[in-house]
Amino acid sequence: MSTPKPMALVTGASSGIGSEFARALAARGDDLVVVARDTSRLDALAERLEAKYGVDVEVLSADLTSKKGRAVVEARLESAEPAVDLLVNNAGVGTYGKFAELSREAEARVIRLNVLAVVQLSHAALPGMIERGRGGIINVSSLAGHQPTPLNATYGGTKAFVTSFSQAVHEELRGTGVKVMVLCPGFTRTEFQERAGLDSGSVPSFLWQTPEPVVAAALRAYDQGRAVCIPGALNQAGAAFSSTLPAGITRRIAGAVVPRVE
Ligand code: NAP
Repeated sequence: MSTPKPMALVTGASSGIGSEFARALAARGDDLVVVARDTSRLDALAERLEAKYGVDVEVLSADLTSKKGRAVVEARLESAEPAVDLLVNNAGVGTYGKFAELSREAEARVIRLNVLAVVQLSHAALPGMIERGRGGIINVSSLAGHQPTPLNATYGGTKAFVTSFSQAVHEELRGTGVKVMVLCPGFTRTEFQERAGLDSGSVPSFLWQTPEPVVAAALRAYDQGRAVCIPGALNQAGAAFSSTLPAGITRRIAGAVVPRVE
């Protein structure tokens, strides 16, 4: 009897880092469940990956800021038909501007997507993985979680949560065969900045990565059982810098490098 192919579920797979996770996982032979709101982009991705890599790709459209959308994905993660071996909690959004002037509903949506969906989807996936003694989760956080981020306050707070939460659960799972890793990218060329209404031209080009090396570093680190992956030497230096300097200095630096709001 042939062993079934590993199955990965990637949220936010319709663009950017999530789309590259889906491609890289398909390239190594994983079947996929791809999740986002834009069904036509997911259908096109599924068709491309199935044709190129000979894997099966299931499309699940869901708005993860809604209870109903999260419930659809939670049910898929709880199902063993076939079981999901790797959950990539990648979908995320940010808002930029002075916190007091931003829309209250938009800030709440950032928390529902970047925090609540990560917690609830992880909670749906883990019991089955623990029972099977294998599998794991990659949570996509950000270097923005390493220090307070003025003009990006709620987003930075959600990513600080994801970074802390993921490492705590990583420790809880020692000895179970199940892994949790947090990925903390720096500036990455995707649709993220445009969606948040940012002028990414104000960030020096040497600070940017493309999704390909970010995802390649993440999958290497995940395979090695690491708790945290910071892709790229410059980002690693930035993170080390943040952790050694006093908070009063890092938050001023973070305020100075934030992209301009368009
Ligand atoms: P992106 O290109 O804008 O992709 C975001 C993805 O999230 C899209 O597939 C989008 O699909 C999905 N999404 C947004 N709202 C959603 C919702 N309500 N329900 C379900 N899916 C939703 O941005 P990205 O840079 O690849 O972002 C991926 C992750 O990387 C995020 O968690 C982000 O915080 C993190 N990150 C990005 C950077 C960066 O500089 N780009 C740096 C550090 C960390 P639909 O619109 O089709 O729903």
